[in-house]
Amino acid sequence: MKIFTSATEVAAAARVSTKRKVLVPTMGALHAGHASLLRRAREIAGRYGEVQVSIFVNPLQFAPGSDFEKYPRPDAADEALCRDAGVDILFRPAVEEMYPGEPSVFVEETALASSLCGRSRPGHFRGVCTVVTKLFHLLAPDFAIFGEKDFQQLAIIRRLVRDLQFQIEIVAAPTVRETDGLACSSRNAYLSVAERAQAPVLPGALLAAKAAFLLGETSAARLLARVRDSINAAPLARIDYAELVDAETLQPVATAKSHSLLAVAVFFGQTRLIDNLLFP
Ligand code: AMP
Repeated sequence: MKIFTSATEVAAAARVSTKRKVLVPTMGALHAGHASLLRRAREIAGRYGEVQVSIFVNPLQFAPGSDFEKYPRPDAADEALCRDAGVDILFRPAVEEMYPGEPSVFVEETALASSLCGRSRPGHFRGVCTVVTKLFHLLAPDFAIFGEKDFQQLAIIRRLVRDLQFQIEIVAAPTVRETDGLACSSRNAYLSVAERAQAPVLPGALLAAKAAFLLGETSAARLLARVRDSINAAPLARIDYAELVDAETLQPVATAKSHSLLAVAVFFGQTRLIDNLLFP
């Protein structure tokens, strides 16, 4: 595995490589969800292709005063996980390397980024689109893999690729969960024992709504009321949003149908967890 910290050097290496390159962008604190993306990357790259991983906690996508400073950065463990997964290129730049000057050019998606997480985290997706664009330029991948756990991010990245005509195929990877159903997330490490014990109300509420939908309930209002009741049953949970949206436009729908997306964001203390489920 080659490790790069310099943007210029990783770009020079990528430019001369004729291999099929598959990028997995991450913020590190790698867990089983990331590991599954790395396995998918290897499948697509094949034996002779190149699996590229970036680890960069991107300040541009964090609001001032949020968890940028305390975001976990277990460098040695991340490096070991990448080695075990057979990663070829690990790009781990410092902030000054990605933002050598105060940035004044940004990439902004304007149709999908204002709903759901965009409403609670203004500027977040602008930060994501800007850094992903930079990573695409530097690493010149043929494919890039994103998790469905961050469904809105995935939809926005697809739009970024379409509108800016990046010659990169975006691949979606399914959400990996702990045995109790909680979606793996680097932020789960922030949860206290009591919060962690209650956090599976997220997937529980989503699955209960899916069951109700399969039994014929299609009213978004009633489905969302159920979701809110299930989550509010956990005393430490505070709902940021619970919404039923069209999976293409991410706009709210009144009637659930196949391919409606049920998406939730819930605070446990300062920790904000997200999860989603696409109706069958
Ligand atoms: P992050 O390091 O949180 O920015 O995530 C990096 C990539 O891993 C993103 O494409 C995420 O959607 C994906 N990811 C994070 N958690 C999971 C999970 N539990 N299952 C599948 N993919 C995930």
